Amino acid sequence: MPEETKTGKASEVVLRERRRRFRKTRVRELKMIAKALASTKHPVLVHIIPMRRCNLDCGYCNEYDNVSKPVPLEEMRKRLDILADMGTSIITISGGEPLMHPELEGVIRHIRKRGMIAGMITNGFLLSKERIGNLNEAGLEHLQISIDNVVPDEVSKKSLKTLDTRLEWLAELAVFQVNINSVLGSGVKDPEDALKIAHRAVDLGFTSTVGIIHDGNGQLKPLGPRELEIFEEVMALGKRSFSRFNDFQHSVARGKEHDWRCRSGARYLYICEDGLVHWCSQQRGYPGIPLAQYTDEMRHREYYTAKHCAPMCTVSCVQQVGIIDNWRGSQTLKPKPMAPPSPKPELVQIGSTRSDS
Ligand code: SF4
Ligand code: SF4
Repeated sequence: MPEETKTGKASEVVLRERRRRFRKTRVRELKMIAKALASTKHPVLVHIIPMRRCNLDCGYCNEYDNVSKPVPLEEMRKRLDILADMGTSIITISGGEPLMHPELEGVIRHIRKRGMIAGMITNGFLLSKERIGNLNEAGLEHLQISIDNVVPDEVSKKSLKTLDTRLEWLAELAVFQVNINSVLGSGVKDPEDALKIAHRAVDLGFTSTVGIIHDGNGQLKPLGPRELEIFEEVMALGKRSFSRFNDFQHSVARGKEHDWRCRSGARYLYICEDGLVHWCSQQRGYPGIPLAQYTDEMRHREYYTAKHCAPMCTVSCVQQVGIIDNWRGSQTLKPKPMAPPSPKPELVQIGSTRSDS
């Protein structure tokens, strides 16, 4: 931790409101787990992209562009309504950089209005005191910032140095839960940074997790001996949150194949900015069907479809969702191209002639 940084202190009012929101969210999370255990028919977690554009250009990232426009709020509401009607429990807004979306708070409000748990993954650069207040007011429940290093380098500007003031604002003002994710793995210059970042997160009252950077296909490489020690230490620091349900991460860190059933396309959905359903951020393109045409039968099929990339997967949020169903529902189907159902004719024409006759 840089010497000059000070721990942000929340006022009594903020602490009270934070405790109140935490209790409410925790009750909703427990209900979400009970509902997911009772039925396999609905999505548990959906990542949705309102903005593909990003204000940064991290060297390892394949999830952003520099040009795209925000998805209009009305369109986002329609997509969220479809997801709520499917019975989705948690929506995590991701990107690109969601804070670049001019109506992000409207998206969060709609998630909450439809009874779903609202989370967001951001690089944090666009946070201000006022924006944190707006996110509080909109009803955000979880926020995650991924920090890659202690000082910025040519690969990533997401550093403790550039973000520490914003972390202090969050510690002072946010009534939602904040998780700081540090990273280990290919492309990370100094693994000790992950430890410093995790300690700073805990000092500020946040939860802390560590992710292992995957290659361009979402697949893993084993960590070195010192990286492994750091990994275990940061994992131990993270025991306070739901992130403790992540035993698969120990296999990931050692580059070992792990035995699990990826339920993407069914219990987990990734909805891109064009409104298409994908397996996950690292397997975009399949099934690639518009959300409005993604039927219960398609989700049902994906539930039982084995994913070729599962043994070496590093996408931790999908693996956490998988825990709920790993003990049931063997995956015996193979992926197959699925076409959206043909639209129903709106008019029944009597006595019409074929135009090609
Ligand atoms: S901030 Fe996030 S989305 Fe943007 S380039 Fe970096 S990793 Fe990608
Ligand atoms: S196993 Fe699932 S989450 Fe992992 S890369 Fe494949 S589709 Fe994505």
